[in-house]
Amino acid sequence: MSDHTAETIAAIASAPGAAGVGVVRVSGPLVPAIAQTLLGRAPQPRHAHFAAIREAGGALIDRGLLLHFPAPASYTGEHVLELQGHGSAVLLDLLLRRVCELGARLARPGEFTERAFLNGKLDLAQAEAVADLIAARSQAGARAALQSMEGVFSRKVEVLLQALIALRVHIEAAIDFPEEEIDFLADPAITRQLEALRAELAGLLREAQRGLRLNDGLRVAIIGRPNAGKSSLLNALAGNDRAIVTPIAGTTRDVLRESLSLDGIALELADTAGLRETDDEVEREGVRRAHGELQRADVAVLVTDAEHAMADLALLADVSVGVERLVLINKIDRDHASPHDELRDGTLWLWASAKTGAGLDALREHLKRLAGAGSGEGAFSARRRHVQALEQVQAHLEHAAGVLAHTRAGELAAEELRHAQHALGEITGSYSSDDLLGAIFGSFCIGK
Ligand code: GDP
Repeated sequence: MSDHTAETIAAIASAPGAAGVGVVRVSGPLVPAIAQTLLGRAPQPRHAHFAAIREAGGALIDRGLLLHFPAPASYTGEHVLELQGHGSAVLLDLLLRRVCELGARLARPGEFTERAFLNGKLDLAQAEAVADLIAARSQAGARAALQSMEGVFSRKVEVLLQALIALRVHIEAAIDFPEEEIDFLADPAITRQLEALRAELAGLLREAQRGLRLNDGLRVAIIGRPNAGKSSLLNALAGNDRAIVTPIAGTTRDVLRESLSLDGIALELADTAGLRETDDEVEREGVRRAHGELQRADVAVLVTDAEHAMADLALLADVSVGVERLVLINKIDRDHASPHDELRDGTLWLWASAKTGAGLDALREHLKRLAGAGSGEGAFSARRRHVQALEQVQAHLEHAAGVLAHTRAGELAAEELRHAQHALGEITGSYSSDDLLGAIFGSFCIGK
């Protein structure tokens, strides 16, 4: 970390092959000197200079804009130089070489954003949102990532963190006065504070789970006995013929995946092998993978038909708690039925035909809702590690509540709160290891 301010880094910061403008970005202490050399005089801060950028020998490389953002009011918090030239890979490479000749070195992936984080310009969740914004595959995902980049998620985490710290102080004060500890901990204000905190956390966890779906897409596992029409459904939703549809039972031997965007919402569909007992080695492996898929899914869609529905319901027993369930009665064209929805014991049943497409709009609408469509202005993106951290916080708070209710052991409750604070702090990076930072920034693209 010692080198993080000493060196000046440079990279091409525009999409490869982008027509029009190409950008070389430079950050670090040498920027003012490099800018002065390239422009022939000191640049005006945050002013677009039209400049002829030349080789050391005087040959023209390109004409374009030169902008200097002096530290600390820049993306990285350091001196930043942006050179906007023609979007030619060859010219951009020459510009980059010229800048490196003047003392910069090539930036590693994510290094600009990492410096922004190290210099306190962004917290970790915001920095991750920069990468998520670039990688977004749907409009809703991009909008949500932008919200996180703006700090919407981080501010909510910060509010919780402050409440958690206040409660910790309260409980630790009680421990410091052991003769009064019991009275202190029996104070209903402490229980109230803890309950309020748990309610806030539950709300934030729900929002983060939705943010994860917006970011990663909704993972839909399609399950059902062989020949129920799972592959046909996947094809109908995906609009191509990737899954093989044949009338012989047991053809879907592996997990087939399809990503699709429904009106700007990302869906990850997995068609699992027909779940059934089998002696066939290959098919057994497929069944094993199908079970794995069910552990990871957000939604399980049971595909069946009017004839087999009651017997097939047993297949839902394999679906983990917390995974949304949906029953799709397929092949209504054969049974001369019409599409309709019905709620049975809290599970939505839909009637449809993968063959004719009847009833599939209702399925699409439902999946879009689950994926977070229409979640409104404030919806923010989140990553799996954020959701896991919030789940850890939840577990620690639950333990703390149990301890206070049953034993009034202040030390134990304080310990749980300390762990909770640590887990919460990992989201925004108040606590972070070099390994975590390496993993996060290493997955960025160069130039960001
Ligand atoms: P899977 O084994 O569950 O993946 O089932 P498939 O998608 O391979 O379909 C099995 C058979 O059912 C094929 O012959 C399909 O053409 C047929 N099928 C699938 N969906 C429908 C439907 O909605 N109506 C009718 N009539 N046949 C269907």
